[in-house]
Amino acid sequence: MPTVGVLALQGGVAEHISILTELGCDVNEVRTPDELESISAIILPGGESTTLISLMNRWELTRPLMAMGEAGFPIFGTCAGAVLLSKEIDEKEHEVKQSSLGLADVKAVRNYFGRQTSSFVESIDVTGLCEPFIGVFIRAPLLLPLSGSVEVLSSVEDGPVLLRQNNLWLSSFHPELTPDSRIHRLFLEHHGILKGSG
Ligand code: GLN
Repeated sequence: MPTVGVLALQGGVAEHISILTELGCDVNEVRTPDELESISAIILPGGESTTLISLMNRWELTRPLMAMGEAGFPIFGTCAGAVLLSKEIDEKEHEVKQSSLGLADVKAVRNYFGRQTSSFVESIDVTGLCEPFIGVFIRAPLLLPLSGSVEVLSSVEDGPVLLRQNNLWLSSFHPELTPDSRIHRLFLEHHGILKGSG
């Protein structure tokens, strides 16, 4: 069974673990650098990206994760996790300079989709899935590609919400908050971590 890591410092950790377990993966909760060693891919969950980056710095995970991402290791950042992967971060509500892993050629506009009360659910088409997926957006970022090597796998009216740049996947919505495991499966199959079902 493949072992997949979930960064477990803050945010929606349990939901990712339950989807990965359902897909037949072993899961490592990652809080320290040595917990990165035996995994084939890692998910950076949603939560609060400012909190996550400061916890990652404190637990000395930032540098090893940057090195792994640069070396082609599969990393999937969902919502705040996508903000962490982005090279540029803009804040819609106020100007704050925020640090990140800076791996993907993506500009994340934090909180683009508004305040808690304007969080929403939308059926989205995703490249690689036959049927639409229910996207759950919670204070979600807009994700803007900065180079031609970033593929847009899904968009809503305002712009892209699921991107892939080689080993890096970024979603502005929460694929772990529905019982539908297809996006996790797509990520894992794309990198040969799970075998194709068809
Ligand atoms: N707005 C949060 C951030 O930028 C992300 C929210 C989420 O992960 N649901 O960190």
